[in-house]
Amino acid sequence: MESTMTNTKWQFLAEKALSGERLTLEEGLSVLEADNDEVLLIMNAAFTVRKHFYGKKVKLNMIINAKSGLCPEDCGYCSQSIVSTAPVSKYTMLDKETLLAGAREAMARKAGTYCIVAAGKGPTDKELNQVVNAVKEIRETMPLKICACLGILKEDQAKRLAEAGVHRYNHNLNTSKANYPSITTTHTYDQRIETVEKVKAHGMSPCSGVIIGMGETHREIVEMAFALHNLNADSIPINFLNAIPGTPLEHAGRTPSLKALKVLALFRFVCPSKEIRVAGGREVNLSTLQPLSLYAANSLFVGDYLTTAGQDVSADHQIIEDLGFEIELNAL
Ligand code: SF4
Repeated sequence: MESTMTNTKWQFLAEKALSGERLTLEEGLSVLEADNDEVLLIMNAAFTVRKHFYGKKVKLNMIINAKSGLCPEDCGYCSQSIVSTAPVSKYTMLDKETLLAGAREAMARKAGTYCIVAAGKGPTDKELNQVVNAVKEIRETMPLKICACLGILKEDQAKRLAEAGVHRYNHNLNTSKANYPSITTTHTYDQRIETVEKVKAHGMSPCSGVIIGMGETHREIVEMAFALHNLNADSIPINFLNAIPGTPLEHAGRTPSLKALKVLALFRFVCPSKEIRVAGGREVNLSTLQPLSLYAANSLFVGDYLTTAGQDVSADHQIIEDLGFEIELNAL
């Protein structure tokens, strides 16, 4: 009897999401603070919403780290930051041929979106030129969607990327406004919001997400979901901190797998029609429960992340096949 009642409660949230009504703060908190025994019921309700908008399709994305290390910013989670002592590769912007080779690899992995990511506060004009030239050629020769993630953009830089054919621009909020100063002091939460708005103004699709596990409260997680709902981000990567030795957050610990699932369900309820991507840190934090994440999320990164290894792409393809889901090619 009790489980019937709780099932009805989660299905009520699913119906609310499907009707276009946003969850209240209390409802959002109830997802994160639910008993672990209810996780399957919550995921079932999240799947009702996911299935309505995306069926059983899974979109794959591949990242290339186009410029690594050497970053003057102090983001506490990042191994490429000036304050990190983690041993990461350091190189300047990759040349066009290497960026094109990455695009071909994305196609081989059945990734519909190729994400060109560069470390730094924002690109120099020379770096931007290199990306623009590569994007133009990829767009002419391959059926890939392009997402760029190059940091804070100037107005003319956003315009040039859009004109070159960049479909989407990623700039994560990362954490809540209240928690932001404890994670990064060299730029602000508001600057990140401004960049997302600039991207939208130039006609690129906004991608913006979070990193869970950086000392934020449950209330702040719900507030992040509300902030991304208000920003109307089309794509929302949900990263779970993979604490890297040598970074200020090296001792932060992992997010429990069942909590990670509740977070994904929360974002599905709050941003029901958006691409919810289970992103960095999924292997470490979701562990053996990774397949369940796709009952809420409809998108994955395949291959390696910026400075950490992902699992073998064949394992991801196998998860999708085992679930009876299918890879969606050419989706944005
Ligand atoms: S997250 Fe980006 S801006 Fe922050 S330190 Fe890392 S590379 Fe630099």
